[in-house]
Amino acid sequence: MRRIDLRKAQAARLNTIRDINRQIVLNYVREREPISRAEISRETDLQRSTISAIVEALKLEGLVEEVGEGESTGGRRPTMLRLCTKEAIALGVAITPTLTTVATSDLAGRVISQQEFLTDPDPRKTLDEVVELVSKQAQLNRGVEAVGVSLPGLVDPATGTAIYVPYFQWRDVPVGKMIGSAISLPVIIDNDANAVALAELWFGRPEVTDARDFIMVLVAEGVGTGIIFDGQVYRGQRGAAGEFGHMVIGTNAPVACSCGNFDCWEAFSSERATLARYGTLSEGGSSSISFPELVDRALGGEANAKAALVETAHFLSIGISNLVVGFSPEAVVVGGDIARAWSLVEDALTERIERTVRRGLPSARIMPSTLGEKPALRGALSLVLAGKFAAAFAA
Ligand SMILES: [Zn+2]
Repeated sequence: MRRIDLRKAQAARLNTIRDINRQIVLNYVREREPISRAEISRETDLQRSTISAIVEALKLEGLVEEVGEGESTGGRRPTMLRLCTKEAIALGVAITPTLTTVATSDLAGRVISQQEFLTDPDPRKTLDEVVELVSKQAQLNRGVEAVGVSLPGLVDPATGTAIYVPYFQWRDVPVGKMIGSAISLPVIIDNDANAVALAELWFGRPEVTDARDFIMVLVAEGVGTGIIFDGQVYRGQRGAAGEFGHMVIGTNAPVACSCGNFDCWEAFSSERATLARYGTLSEGGSSSISFPELVDRALGGEANAKAALVETAHFLSIGISNLVVGFSPEAVVVGGDIARAWSLVEDALTERIERTVRRGLPSARIMPSTLGEKPALRGALSLVLAGKFAAAFAA
């Protein structure tokens, strides 16, 4: 049972119950489409007239549409409903250390269009380019309601500020303000791992979306974690929770962590660490390849590439077991390009965690992300989309 927070509680209004029912109906359509009004009524015990009124409102708002008739269960064939996919509703901006992607998606999270450019270490240059692309898309897509931005660093979602992005040494960049002043749309910013965790919660595989508590481990240039606690992102003070990439797991990492230390989890488990290992194994000959290329080589059977990935998986499993012991989540989802090589890294990833479980702790499933390419982009879009489906108010 959750203690009521009187600073946040809204006294129950007459509208509150209607809002809750509206969100329940919208989520039935999202998860079970195509679905009829009668089916929703049967499953929710809401009256048919209530469902019909809510559906009419959702249709007017452009959230739900009718898609022909379903199978009859005796009487008239029912009209089926699904999420409206006619137009773009969300704009997502994923800023990563290498590429920045700007994309539009429909209500179901399907990407409609995307453009990308090389991220400039100068925040003004990168954000100028973002503003240009975002303004163009907002003009072309009048249905877009908000812009979600994911950043590889510490952000304050409340003020829209990038507090610290280690790769570029950005400090206190008012990202939300810079984008929001150029277009008259709300801008929602978050850390990349939090955003990707949100995407897993709403658009991931059923084993993940059904979990109330899970941890997303995003392996990229660094290692980030997003914690989903009771069906929402756990943020901590000023949104700074989840910086487990900097927990100490050893000494003598192959590269310095983005924070400058050599003993952080990230310094052992990031893509950079894997590439450094590969460079050492290959006697420095091929360390200039990209991480996706390394994964391709490993999948193609190259021994050094496989060995570098397996060693990284070993270090990932050390950190993941610490998280499992501390949080006892239902699942841990591993995202990033390393997830493509799951068949090669799964044993090394789960071995230590299984040993922990044998000591009598409840098990957590360790699984690869199924968000596909560009998880941070899916995350950025989810920052907008999750708001459309989330509970109408916090109880
Ligand atoms: Zn660190």
